[in-house]
Amino acid sequence: MKICGCARAPLKTLSVVKEFKLIDGRVVAEKVYAELRGEIARLQSLGTTPGLAVVLVGDDPASRAYVRAKDKMCRELGLHSVKLELPNDTTQSDLLARVDELNRDPAIHGILVQSPPPPQIDEGAIVRALDPAKDVDGFHPLNIAKLALGDASGFVPCTPLGCLRLLQESGVTTSGAHVVVLGRSMIVGKPLALLLMQKGVDATVTVVHSRTRNLAEITRSADVVIAAIGQAGFVRREHVRDGAVVIDVGINRVDDTTSPRGYRLVGDVAFEEVAPNTSAITPVPGGVGPMTIAMLMANTVKAAGAPAN
Ligand code: NDP
Repeated sequence: MKICGCARAPLKTLSVVKEFKLIDGRVVAEKVYAELRGEIARLQSLGTTPGLAVVLVGDDPASRAYVRAKDKMCRELGLHSVKLELPNDTTQSDLLARVDELNRDPAIHGILVQSPPPPQIDEGAIVRALDPAKDVDGFHPLNIAKLALGDASGFVPCTPLGCLRLLQESGVTTSGAHVVVLGRSMIVGKPLALLLMQKGVDATVTVVHSRTRNLAEITRSADVVIAAIGQAGFVRREHVRDGAVVIDVGINRVDDTTSPRGYRLVGDVAFEEVAPNTSAITPVPGGVGPMTIAMLMANTVKAAGAPAN
């Protein structure tokens, strides 16, 4: 049975078989793309093709794969896509000059500099050099301030935005719900907390991190647990109360000799152990990951349609 991108999944490998909703990020992402196609066609009829520039410095394989996926999605949607691949020894001033060119390029509405850059690059300074109106990653201080202020004209970071959309599409009531976010990074945890506590979303938010005392006691009090700590299988049965909703942001490589790559990707949640006691849960892969790219596309389309353009 399929409901809003959620499939009911009996977990047969465990002795206690319970049903939970598997929140399918790929299905929800497709729904986002269907909506975006309409808006892209409208903008094109007005003479604007949304354009995204992704800048990659160096040759980190994971970053390369992310950049490829973003470029592919842009093309599938008919967006103008620029992939700028710069050598590993690119200097800060070279990169700033490229960002400046893209800031001034009228065909480019969104700019993303793939993280992490090589060590000679001051990532914060690069983010501050972006035109905030093209900062589709939502990391510029102005966009973070707009998120804190509840000003919808800014850009919200893609992964938090994707988590919220997954909850909404799964019919999870956020108003008054206690959401515990694990992790306080500027990419996920902190902006996610700001987003969830906004008026209209109205969650009661607790953020836990590596210095939190009684972490399991806090997460057990949550209606919704969102894990974004980068620790494979950290969230166990004892962290989640029966019937809670679990969103797993984590993407971690663990050794797997049975895989041709020698590793497989797992989340921050011990899925097999936790899933049967949840009411709904995202898988890894196929949960939050596809939504991050979908929200990047959505932010780019939003940038192209913003009044200044
Ligand atoms: P960071 O390393 O920047 O932040 C990790 C956060 O988790 C920190 O706040 C840290 O606490 C906290 N933390 C780490 N270990 C523990 C622990 N044992 N107990 C409690 N808190 C802990 O990671 P990111 O936010 O960038 O990413 C988190 C995960 O999400 C990663 O697996 C990453 O790959 C994934 N990710 C997935 C995306 C997607 O599209 N699905 C997008 C972005 C990230 P402290 O601050 O105290 O050090």
